[in-house]
Amino acid sequence: MNIIQIPTFTDNYVWIMHELNNDFAVVVDPGESKPIIDALNINNLQLSDILLTHHHHDHIGGVKKLKEIYPAANIYGPEDIRIPTTIDVKDNQTIWLDSINEEFRVIDVRGHTNSHIAYYFKNKLFCGDTLFSCGCGRLFEGTYEDMYKALIKIKNLPKETMVYCAHEYTLDNIGFAKIVDPKNLDLLEREKEVKYLLKNGFFTIPSTLENELKVNPFLRFDVKDIKNSVQNHFSKKISSDAEVFKYTREWKDNEYD
Ligand SMILES: [Zn+2]
Repeated sequence: MNIIQIPTFTDNYVWIMHELNNDFAVVVDPGESKPIIDALNINNLQLSDILLTHHHHDHIGGVKKLKEIYPAANIYGPEDIRIPTTIDVKDNQTIWLDSINEEFRVIDVRGHTNSHIAYYFKNKLFCGDTLFSCGCGRLFEGTYEDMYKALIKIKNLPKETMVYCAHEYTLDNIGFAKIVDPKNLDLLEREKEVKYLLKNGFFTIPSTLENELKVNPFLRFDVKDIKNSVQNHFSKKISSDAEVFKYTREWKDNEYD
């Protein structure tokens, strides 16, 4: 399967998946339509399926126009009045997509929003605004507990999983990650790599879950250095991993972003 990465707006990524031996394509979170239509045309592809992770405009803004041009396209997403689905999907459901010969599994990852879902294909995770490289989504609607549970689900996927998130926030996220996890050599290595990639016009996404587990402070709530760092910052004894996550997120929200 081939995956085309399309930068949209200032820092969003839209993903188009297709097989090389047929003309159909699946798009994830088309926030706008024009760059998607252009990419489909250049590659002689017909849009067969749209996968939506959550209701924010920069993820669904292009759906209406795409559906006009490709009226047969299925629109998958969580059951939510704000999301224009034709097929509602829920946690743990598996769906076979004929167009790309692949089955995906739905993972409920509420937290950034109340109905946010992710799509998991063979070792590929399309997680919208839940996990970013070296960071995670803000909690607009869900609770810390929701997001913590979502991140545990992601943490438990095979470590070879490629993370196809929806934003190029990596370098900014590293700035905060270094404050929380200053002794992490893998993080400094990732910073070097990211600076090199960006300087040379490359994307830093997709990343691998294996690397995120080493460098992303929001997946490292069970690491002693992170716990100590959060305890020192808040001058507070912290007893659980869920609390480490909560205070790490709070730290970033209040003092970094
Ligand atoms: Zn969002």
